[in-house]
Amino acid sequence: MSNIKRVYSFGAKKAEGKADMKNLLGGKGANLAEMCLLGLPVPAGFTITTEVCTEYYENDCQLPAELMPEVWAAMQKTEETMGMKFGDPTNALLVSCRSGARSSMPGMMDTVLNIGLSSATIPGFIKKTNNPRFVWDSYRRLIMMYADVVMEKSEGLEPSDGRGIRKQLDDMLDAFKHKKGYKSDTDLNADDLKLLAEDFKKRVHASLGQPFPDDAKAQLEGSIKAVFKSWNGKKAISYRRIEGIPDEWGTAVNVQAMVFGNMGDSSATGVAFTRNPATGENVFYGEWLINAQGEDVVAGIRTPNPLNNDTKNDQNSHLKSMQEAMPSTYKELANIRDILETSFKDMLDIEFTIQENVLYMLQCRAGKRTGTAALNMAMDMLKEGLIDEKKAVTRVDPAQLDELLHPICDPAAEKKSHVVVKGLPAGPGAAVGKVVFTAEDAVIWFRKGEKVILLREETNPEDVEGMRAAEGILTARGGMTSHAALVARGWGKCCIVGAGHLHVDAATKSAKVAGTDVILKEGDVITLNGTKGNVYLGAITLMDATENPRFQDFMKLVDKFRKMGVRTNADTPADAKIAREYGAEGIGLFRTEHMFYGEGADQPLFLLRKMILSNGVEERKVALNELFAYVKKDIKATMDAMDGLPVTFRLLDPPLHEFVPQNADKQAELAKALGISVEAVAKRGESLHESNPMMGHRGVRLGVTYPEVSEMQIRAIFESSVELIKEGKDPHPEIMVPVTCDVSELDFTKKIADKVYGEVCSKFGVKAIDYKYGTMIEIPRACLLADRMAKSAEFFSFGTNDLTQMSFGFSRDDIGGFLNEYLDKKMLPADPFQTIDQDGVGQLIKMSVEKGRATRPDLKVGICGEQGGDPASVEFCFKAGLTYVSCSPYRVPIARLAAAQASIRAGK
Ligand code: ADP
Ligand code: MG
Ligand code: MG
Repeated sequence: MSNIKRVYSFGAKKAEGKADMKNLLGGKGANLAEMCLLGLPVPAGFTITTEVCTEYYENDCQLPAELMPEVWAAMQKTEETMGMKFGDPTNALLVSCRSGARSSMPGMMDTVLNIGLSSATIPGFIKKTNNPRFVWDSYRRLIMMYADVVMEKSEGLEPSDGRGIRKQLDDMLDAFKHKKGYKSDTDLNADDLKLLAEDFKKRVHASLGQPFPDDAKAQLEGSIKAVFKSWNGKKAISYRRIEGIPDEWGTAVNVQAMVFGNMGDSSATGVAFTRNPATGENVFYGEWLINAQGEDVVAGIRTPNPLNNDTKNDQNSHLKSMQEAMPSTYKELANIRDILETSFKDMLDIEFTIQENVLYMLQCRAGKRTGTAALNMAMDMLKEGLIDEKKAVTRVDPAQLDELLHPICDPAAEKKSHVVVKGLPAGPGAAVGKVVFTAEDAVIWFRKGEKVILLREETNPEDVEGMRAAEGILTARGGMTSHAALVARGWGKCCIVGAGHLHVDAATKSAKVAGTDVILKEGDVITLNGTKGNVYLGAITLMDATENPRFQDFMKLVDKFRKMGVRTNADTPADAKIAREYGAEGIGLFRTEHMFYGEGADQPLFLLRKMILSNGVEERKVALNELFAYVKKDIKATMDAMDGLPVTFRLLDPPLHEFVPQNADKQAELAKALGISVEAVAKRGESLHESNPMMGHRGVRLGVTYPEVSEMQIRAIFESSVELIKEGKDPHPEIMVPVTCDVSELDFTKKIADKVYGEVCSKFGVKAIDYKYGTMIEIPRACLLADRMAKSAEFFSFGTNDLTQMSFGFSRDDIGGFLNEYLDKKMLPADPFQTIDQDGVGQLIKMSVEKGRATRPDLKVGICGEQGGDPASVEFCFKAGLTYVSCSPYRVPIARLAAAQASIRAGK
């Protein structure tokens, strides 16, 4: 690696790098180079590549020997461009040393400003600038930043009590101002600042055991190392985990000639967005401060001024805008805004500094934006001709679409609130309400017109009505695919699960937050942010996510580029209707057992229980006959709602014991219906107990032992279809057999289907019903034998919840207990129940597709697990050649967008 180029220079409208070199130069470095090429005023400097960061870490945190000579050579170019010399006693050049990764990680890594001030350069610098106050101010800033970033953080000396050197020096500054009766930093005069700088150096030496280096070259070398080190700082690591940025990328280092916004009232610094990042509105939007340096704006030390009239609001309208105070420089900046947008074709976030009325550009990058802004800007820029349709489709992050469909916490209000407890972000959006501890209370309070949050240890099917009534759901246990989470997402309801620090006491209707003295009691108001998993005390203002009129236009565009189908998981005609409005092209999973939960479920549930507890075929058939009408009604109404589109009906797959009644009244009622004693009912119930129900008597196994159960359902499907056909409708049912592990199970069930098909056709006098027969693939053995399974099955649908559970041996209902440890220790990249484990489970999927299609080339393949609505998983499914993904109704637009982006990225 000795003859590679490690340093790239920029300045004076020339540059060795350019915008598309982000991998090598980092986002900041590449865009600084590009701005030079665009002829913009950028202080000269150079970028040390991300490869050097890799070398640094491979080399046991040593800079490669070749680096510093190359740095000094580049420094010479910078000196020539700027007409100053680094470390020179009479004409000193100062530089900044800035981090900058491939993808922006705002504020997560470190930067040191004013490098090069020392006892050798200060006197000459004062003389040259004729501004001692400015020089001593710059010096004390250098000491603060250098001591914090280079001497403490990068050496791993940060004390855990938060009394790091930065805090100590800040306190000294405050004490000094207090003693002098000053209000603002700007009250400090040159002598004050000089005195402070001397005191700072003493404290640094005493506190960190090393003197602050009084040598320009040593300062720069130390800063470069510290910036590399900050790649592995605490903040940076957690940010990468949240954003999914790989640890191997590394950061580049930018060394750049300083320009000064703190030279007096003709100097300033600011940050701006080329369009409004909250709404997307096409107005220049920003903040600035007179006589200040870099981070003062962002750090909130002083309330920044509005950039222009468009940026004025209630808090800042009394402050002078740049448009008013420096009209000609503002014009120049507004012109640069246009040049940048035309060139980068995106909304940019820019940093600028004005030194004695001269404007300099210090940074530009694609600006972070809300979902609403992303969508508005994509559609605006398309209309303006700035971007084409494909680009517009890629401009909205699928996960951000959620924001457009659910109410969310007002970000400003949320920032000011304190998180009391955290859990897994199971259902998106936000919810405010009064805490209740039982499903019954939720319903009662709801009927009284109260908004409630249902707080439970965990939820079970009997809570469903209460969950429906609640604004949001919070549980102490459970994972992302736990019952509560599944149900909540299905309804687009805000939900947080697995908040392990909550200790729920059902008896007193209260919950203690472990490690704090917070106790949540019935009626307390809390706010949930289900997108982040945060719980707050009190009510946070919610923002209305009213339907953006452009949403529909955008989705039309999306579908133009989408190749893979998107269906929905819906269990009721009502959900089917919603999903269809969101663009679902059919149902990929209809769970029959859902008709036994919730509103109107009493009678079918009673009959199901009667069936479960029946003794012998005859008794069971009686119960099944009574149940038939209910099953058929739901099936028919759902196909009606999906008229013309396929509906996949999964045959019953309930762990039976879940349905055995526990309370005495219900048991007595059943005893009466079955004509047996209550004891006998209890006994039959007990006999259904299984030690491992997840792997017990469920799915196709039920149909193998009780073929009449399958037969009843299949008959309901065919009869519904025939009736619909006779009404002039166009039904396309698909029969899906769950939990299979062998083709014999499929052949067995197919015989039943064939028999019923013949019977129904002749009974109603129809020739044919367009239907498909297939299976859910959710057991690894079924994947291994997919070629055989496809002999019987015309379609596969991956049940990736169970497939993940069975592949990992992780119980999906208990994963909350250990998942976070795995994620924190980086033993897993993500929750495999949320995003498909491509390495392991993904292999099983790919293999099944190949084997299945080898047997049956036109095999339809879909996925109906929770991951079907996760953008990364959707992309994987597209690459694996799946025919469609199926997800909960509210995630349908997300899956549509993710699928379109996947084909655009694949160049298809
Ligand atoms: P971040 O990535 O956290 O924004 P930056 O490297 O952009 O860190 O630097 C922090 C602040 O210092 C910014 O406000 C930036 O504008 C300012 N700054 C950086 N380099 C210079 C420079 N050469 N001259 C003047 N200000 C600078
Ligand atoms: Mg910056
Ligand atoms: Mg399953």
